[in-house]
This record gives sequence, C-alpha cells and structure tokens, in this order.
Amino acid sequence: MHTSKRDHYGYTVRQAIVMRCVACGVDMELVRAVPDNSMMVSGREIGTFECPRCHAKAQRLMSTHEIEPFASERMQLPAISSALLATTMHKMSLAQHKMLVAARNALARALTMFRGSRDGGG
Ligand SMILES: [Zn+2]
Repeated sequence: MHTSKRDHYGYTVRQAIVMRCVACGVDMELVRAVPDNSMMVSGREIGTFECPRCHAKAQRLMSTHEIEPFASERMQLPAISSALLATTMHKMSLAQHKMLVAARNALARALTMFRGSRDGGG
C-alpha cells in the first residue's frame, strides 16, 4: 500500500483524537465535527465517532487549538507589535520634545512681554 508523507501526517493527527468502541474494542472513525456553541468558549468541537463494526456512535469534546495551523503565525504577532510600538513611541517622544520646546519658547516670549509692559507702565 502506497502512503505519502501527507497521508502519514493526517493519520498522526487523527490518532490523537481517536476513540475506541467499548463493545468491539476497535478504533472508531470520526464522521462528524461540529463547533461547540453550548459554552461561551471557542476552539472546541464536538466530534461524532462511529464504530466500523457495530456502527455505534459516540461523541467527544475536542480542542481545535492543538491542530490549529495559525498557531506559529500568532506567536510572531507580539514581536511585530512591540517593534511597531517602539517606533511609535520614538516618534511620539520626538513630537513631544518639539512641542515642549515650542511651548517653552512661547512661554518665555510671553513672560518677556509681560515683564516689559509692567516695567514700562510702572
Ligand atoms: Zn463497535
């Protein structure tokens, strides 16, 4: 029997969520998987297994997080956002510095004008 690498990988994933028939003792086949909406949590599925011999059915709660293909991509997100945050923080501090200098200059000018008018008028 010919088996490719893809078939072998699929077999390994299915082995992790396999169920055994209590009557026959054989591995049951996953015939259906529906998202679990009974609870307010996502990433859970109710798998329906069927015995190939006596066709008995059994249900099992499965976690879809374990076989999620985007897990590695999601792991990289914090690194990207922190780099972006650092750049934004740097830009913001630069803008803040410019504003502070401008405000200080305006305040100094206003104080000079105030003192000047007071000295002249007294
Ligand atoms: Zn059975």
